[in-house]
Amino acid sequence: MSNEVSIIGAGIAGLTLAINLHSQGIPCAIYETRPEPQNIGGAVMLSPNSLRLFDNMGICDDLKRLGYSFDTLYFRDPAGSLKETYPFGSVEEYGYSGLRVYRFELIDLLLEKVNVNKIPIYFNHKFSHVVFETEDTVTWQLIDGTTTTSSLLIGADGIHSRVRKYMYPDLSPKFTGIAGITAAVPTANLKLPSPDYKMPVTIVSLSHGAFVIAPQKADGSEVLIGKQKRMTELSREIWEKFFADKDASVAFLREGAEVFGDLAISATSDIPHENINVWPFYVIPKLESWSSANRRVLLVGDSAHAVPPSSGQGINQAVEDAVMLSILLGKGRGDKNDLGWWQGFRQDRVEQILLLNARVDRRRLPKILGSEEQGDDEQGFDLDWLYGIDVVAEVEKYVC
Ligand SMILES: Cc1cc2nc3c(=O)[nH]c(=O)nc-3n(C[C@H](O)[C@H](O)[C@H](O)COP(=O)(O)OP(=O)(O)OC[C@H]3O[C@@H](n4cnc5c(N)ncnc54)[C@H](O)[C@@H]3O)c2cc1C
Repeated sequence: MSNEVSIIGAGIAGLTLAINLHSQGIPCAIYETRPEPQNIGGAVMLSPNSLRLFDNMGICDDLKRLGYSFDTLYFRDPAGSLKETYPFGSVEEYGYSGLRVYRFELIDLLLEKVNVNKIPIYFNHKFSHVVFETEDTVTWQLIDGTTTTSSLLIGADGIHSRVRKYMYPDLSPKFTGIAGITAAVPTANLKLPSPDYKMPVTIVSLSHGAFVIAPQKADGSEVLIGKQKRMTELSREIWEKFFADKDASVAFLREGAEVFGDLAISATSDIPHENINVWPFYVIPKLESWSSANRRVLLVGDSAHAVPPSSGQGINQAVEDAVMLSILLGKGRGDKNDLGWWQGFRQDRVEQILLLNARVDRRRLPKILGSEEQGDDEQGFDLDWLYGIDVVAEVEKYVC
């Protein structure tokens, strides 16, 4: 039997959780189905609420060195007029600018911390199922038949979580009807309207939706370009074909480029196939509980509350989940009331983010004929509640 906490998944939630449990003096081990860390998924956006926590973990300076810093997302019409701005960070207001950094670079930095702290991490180890749970322990199995008994099993295994199946055997992620199609192209390809043209920019057309251009790499020498597509759900096999058809993705990115103007035409003139990504946006319905009846099995990150990426908060929220849970457990506070408080706090944030996502999507998707779905939201974005929060102080306030 082991007293340690077993974490399933070495994504951003799992690695963050391991580092923070370790710093609370709680032994843990990570089990990851993939054979090794992989370069998947392109760049992601980190906002001050997670950067503050990465700073506590000692990796913020490295992230800043690797990523592209920015404060504002700009929304423009195809003629180039500025329609709106969306704050993503500010050193003056929140202590941090927003950052676009490759997912694999963030994972590498977290892995480095895991290794320095000698936290056991087992790649090529796929979780299968929970065998049984008592008041104090949980016994669970890998697909190779090995069983382990731990004090806690924490599912950080993403939106298609197998750990979640223990609590919700019949629940499946729900397709939102939207897929994001993105590619990476050299910034040098862009015909910018002026040398001081500001990005990231979303060019919005009522008929064609939105075309996003977002710099990445520390020097901004590459940009992500992307559009969202309304789709019906496909079978797994057809999705695979859809992902593999790079020519179709290039054609979709080019379709209607002239509507978005010369900048979009130049951005889509030469799209390398290597960095094309297709992401069908799935969500999971609100879960009644993120912990099992005996509280030996818990969920964090996407396995508990996957949200679409429209406001760029999936990782940021997964990191908040993991840090708050670690502090709570570190203070010996893992009973029903404590976990209920944690879940309630986290769920409130998720609900607010879903509302924010809906507002961002209304700006990005083409208007459906006859509907008021787009263009009906003239309010600006006030995101103090999102970026200004110190979640560490919130847990400390709760525990004392
Ligand atoms: C297109 C797109 C863009 C995004 N951009 C952003 C962004 O800019 N900013 C942001 O904050 N968020 C973004 N997100 C969301 C973000 O990617 C997720 O919210 C985040 O990755 C969730 O982290 P996680 O660790 O919970 O899950 P995951 O990243 O899914 O990690 C789960 C891990 O568990 C492993 N695993 C799965 N099953 C098993 C098993 N049975 N046994 C062992 N291991 C297992 C997986 O291999 C994986 O390593 C984006 C998402 C998409 C789709």
